[in-house]
Amino acid sequence: MKIKIELYCPHCHRTKVKKNGKKHSGKQTYLCKHCGRQFTGDHALDYKGCHSSIIKRILLMMVRGIGVRNISVIEGISVVKILSVLVKSYY
Ligand SMILES: [Zn+2]
Repeated sequence: MKIKIELYCPHCHRTKVKKNGKKHSGKQTYLCKHCGRQFTGDHALDYKGCHSSIIKRILLMMVRGIGVRNISVIEGISVVKILSVLVKSYY
C-alpha cells in the first residue's frame, strides 16, 4: 500500500519541494524550490507548536472564546506559544 503525503512549504505555501537530506535525528528534511527555505514535514514533528497550521487554529479558538490554558491543553502546546501568537497578531 502506498501512502501519499501532500507537502507544501510552511513559508510560501507552494508545493514545489524536494528532499534535502536528513537531520542527525533521522528525520527527512525538505527544501522549497521557490523560496529556498529548508523545513521538516508536519508529519515528522514531535512538538505540535511548530506545526504549520497551528497559528490559524489558535486564532480561531481565541475568536470563539476559548481561554489560553484550555487551548494549551486541547492542542498540546505551551501557554508561551499561544501568547506569542496573540502578541504577533496585533502587528
Ligand atoms: Zn517556500
